[in-house]
Amino acid sequence: MTKRQATPEIATPTPAKERRRAREISAEPAVENVPRRKRAGKPPKAREADFVVIGAGSGGVAAARRAASHGARVILVERGAIGGTCVNRGCVPKKMLSYGATWAAILSGCLSHTGGKEDWRDAIVRVNAEVARLNASYTQRLAEAGVEILHGEARLAAPTEIVIGNEIVHARKTLIATGARPRALPVPGGELAGTSDDVFTWQTVPASIAVIGGGYIAVELASILSRYGVKVDLLVREDWLLPRFDHDISRSLAEALAATGIRLHFNTDVTLLSQTNGAVEVCYRQDSHPGRTQTVRAQAVLAAIGREANVHGLGLEEIGVKMGPKGGIRVDRQFRSSERSLYAIGDCMAENIHLTPVAIAQGRWVADRLFGKRGDIADFDFVPTAVFCEPAIGAVGLTEAQAIEAAGGKADRIRTEIKRFVSLENRFGGNAQTSMFKLVLNARSGRVLGAHLMDNAAPEIVQTLAVALRLGLKTSHLKSTLPLHPTVAEELFG
Ligand code: FAD
Repeated sequence: MTKRQATPEIATPTPAKERRRAREISAEPAVENVPRRKRAGKPPKAREADFVVIGAGSGGVAAARRAASHGARVILVERGAIGGTCVNRGCVPKKMLSYGATWAAILSGCLSHTGGKEDWRDAIVRVNAEVARLNASYTQRLAEAGVEILHGEARLAAPTEIVIGNEIVHARKTLIATGARPRALPVPGGELAGTSDDVFTWQTVPASIAVIGGGYIAVELASILSRYGVKVDLLVREDWLLPRFDHDISRSLAEALAATGIRLHFNTDVTLLSQTNGAVEVCYRQDSHPGRTQTVRAQAVLAAIGREANVHGLGLEEIGVKMGPKGGIRVDRQFRSSERSLYAIGDCMAENIHLTPVAIAQGRWVADRLFGKRGDIADFDFVPTAVFCEPAIGAVGLTEAQAIEAAGGKADRIRTEIKRFVSLENRFGGNAQTSMFKLVLNARSGRVLGAHLMDNAAPEIVQTLAVALRLGLKTSHLKSTLPLHPTVAEELFG
């Protein structure tokens, strides 16, 4: 057992029985895995491919399938589970746990359902079933597309020479799509903190947890765990949550989270973690109490302080590939690294928006460019984004601060419209949780530059609003379109 597993009763691996049950729940039949290659004792043998993709996450799978559809001989190398972060330890399990938490909270609020910790075991079985279904379905679709999968850790001997165990593949082009992993907490005792990866392996939840971080992963996990009955302390380095989101929204969200019982600590600088009597003590300093060390004790600690590119051990430095200041691979506008035949997309890139649809769009674009017809790159100016906490956040376009900066600092050129209301869903649930919609507008033309919504319906609304913003949505369009009643979205109209 590693030191990181500070809560061994929580971080136990999925037992065979659970996995069996997960397979039974899964709606689709299991698909046979692509057979693993025998390696032991055999001398290295070289093979040829048009395109070798390292990493079968969102970006890598999309790139491999697209290149194969253009007739390229594609080999996809993966050291873990097919589907990468999004499927196995990111978007999918997180969103499903969030659904379970929301339903449990609604039911416990108004229909005498118990809610809380006992729901976690059921929820994680359902999550594992869906992850197993997706693993199988991805594998099947890759095989159908003609992509060969090699299981193992890839290393580059040269930009187009990839070593996987005893196997050597010579590629015409190589794509690095190795994603990112949680950053370790760089303080004494930091290894006592788990990460988001660990949460999705838990069979049960701790009674209390200290979550360190203020970004979307920290906020989502704090909110999810709190709804499963865990006592949550959230320790945030900045003086607000979600630094990349609009301040009005993050302020309102902080109030909403506090109202659900999450204890928020802002301006914290965590200095030490130590184990005491079956709990972990987190020591931190706060600007408001200079010179005084404060503590939070919890059964478990989670560090969600950012992610770093998965590039260690790939051999990139050895073959002279240039890296960005934060450690990711540096690429040009065509996703080409300093080595011309080596490309990189997704979370392993130095400067990128780290979201699944972004990695997919980049992977497909590179595959089209190399093996098919050159197409237009997706529009990265209006990337819709969400925080799946309770209440959820959905945002697209510029925040108020970004809009003012884009207007050369002239705040009078920007106008905002803010609406607060209690949704019918919350009325039914018997709580007065306020939802909030904020539009950032060009003061003269009324063009919508950004939309920032807080409500459980916000992510679904924002997906569609992204199209409208790209097409130049103005407030006059919202006023002249009839709303659909009764919905949460109707609060944008009229
Ligand atoms: P990944 O999906 O990380 O895939 C990389 C793959 O490369 C992995 O499978 C890894 O095993 C493999 N690999 C690495 N090194 C090697 C090697 N040397 N040899 C062989 N294989 C290797 N995004 C959203 O859009 N919406 C969300 O709601 C959302 N929620 C998230 C929640 C959490 C908790 C986390 C952690 C992330 C979330 N994300 C979300 C981000 C999203 O998951 C990533 O942006 C996306 O998965 C990036 O895809 P990728 O292809 O770049 O990398």
